[in-house]
Amino acid sequence: MNSPCQSFGSGPLDAPLRVGGLLPMTTLDYPEHLACVLFCQGCAWRCRYCHNPELIRAKVPTPISWDEVLRFLRKRRGLLDAVVFSGGEATLQKALPGAMRKVRELGFKVGLHSAGIKPASFRRVLALCDWVGFDVKALEEEAELITGVSGSGQANWHSLELLLDSGVDYECRTTVHWQLFDCQRLQRLGERLAALGVQRFVVQLARPQQMLDPELGAAPMPAEAAQLWPYLQQLFPRFELREA
Ligand code: SF4
Repeated sequence: MNSPCQSFGSGPLDAPLRVGGLLPMTTLDYPEHLACVLFCQGCAWRCRYCHNPELIRAKVPTPISWDEVLRFLRKRRGLLDAVVFSGGEATLQKALPGAMRKVRELGFKVGLHSAGIKPASFRRVLALCDWVGFDVKALEEEAELITGVSGSGQANWHSLELLLDSGVDYECRTTVHWQLFDCQRLQRLGERLAALGVQRFVVQLARPQQMLDPELGAAPMPAEAAQLWPYLQQLFPRFELREA
């Protein structure tokens, strides 16, 4: 198993943000906003269903430089509302706070997709975010089954508490692959999140087209899920099921 505290993204402190891809326009990645998405290179976890496996390795050549990203953003002022930093795991890069400040200076709102892999790094950028899409991997004690990394559940849930305490707007989402989750687990997760005060919860079904673990195939939704969705619906002020 990997350690959650392995050294990561080392390099000069002033190294620019490493961006592995750019989605120029989306209405799906920041609710009610027209945004672009920057897919930040590198992640310390190995979620078996990860659908961006090419973003996991940190030290690979990236297709777009930070200067090119800034040139792109300058041309989109007044056209886009927000820039979403996604991944990989954006918070592992030391350059993220500076990049977020720059994006704000250009007049965009800042969105972040994160699993809070390193709570101290996650905390550092929270005040720079207007909205966070937070990945809750599983119950704290079960997250390692998904991420392959010991201690990942503690990190994930600690960062969730930091987010809820921060007052930053958010949604919590959990990706479900039915070989890794069953309805009972998902119900327990929903109940734990509701007890913590989570207001918006999204279950997103894993996309079978591209996943890190080739042994995971397409798994059918269990029949009892039909009763689970209305149950989760009444646990949260806002609940959504997102199909792949
Ligand atoms: S799905 Fe898991 S492995 Fe993939 S980028 Fe997110 S946290 Fe990392």
